[in-house]
Amino acid sequence: MFIVMLGAPGTGKGTIGGILEKELGIVRISSGDIFRTYVKKDKEIGKKIEDYMSKGLLVPDELVVQLVGNRLQESDVINGAILDGFPRTENQAKELDKLLSKGNNKVNLAINLSLPDNEVIARISRRRCCPNKECGEIYNLDFKPPIRDGLCDKCGSKLVQRQDDKEETIKRRLEVYHSTADELINYYKNQNVLKNIKLGSETNLTSNDVGKVLVEELKATI
Ligand code: AMP
Repeated sequence: MFIVMLGAPGTGKGTIGGILEKELGIVRISSGDIFRTYVKKDKEIGKKIEDYMSKGLLVPDELVVQLVGNRLQESDVINGAILDGFPRTENQAKELDKLLSKGNNKVNLAINLSLPDNEVIARISRRRCCPNKECGEIYNLDFKPPIRDGLCDKCGSKLVQRQDDKEETIKRRLEVYHSTADELINYYKNQNVLKNIKLGSETNLTSNDVGKVLVEELKATI
């Protein structure tokens, strides 16, 4: 099963995708994580990617499709994948369809998470992440604080704030998100695979609540 997670930064794509990964045994692939790894390990491509990421801008489609496409060829993509942060544009969605069609696959479900912009800003500026690649647990100083100040509950690593989680960059990322979101959401609506979910003060639903409900729904269909 191939699931794409749509939604602005900070809407819970990573947390919900992580719950689905664990409970359904489908690998989660985050384009943002792929890029952060490149920034650390690859001087040439990493520098190019960092120029876009640090400004809150989208990495060019060609590079995104190439790097995520390579990841999709790896052997753990056996039961499908949960794509977190990719696609972000209609063009990327079309390219993803082409990639999947080679293995006679398609996107089975597009989960569109929404949260008001002011809540996104509040959430992201309080987000802290575990930098350990094997762990990657995500915290929020208000809703999900670590037990020991500044340390990951799971592996003990020192928690960090992502460079692009600073308020000015978040605002730019939101602008960028809104400039491509409608087209992308409509693309999946027209394919009859779209599921809209509202989080935050409008519904009082947390990412964990949504994750649990989705797991039950999806277990019934697998
Ligand atoms: P994320 O971890 O999903 O919030 O992504 C962090 C940053 O990586 C974004 O602000 C973009 O600069 C870049 N990025 C991640 N996924 C994509 C994508 N599908 N297309 C273009 N840029 C992306």
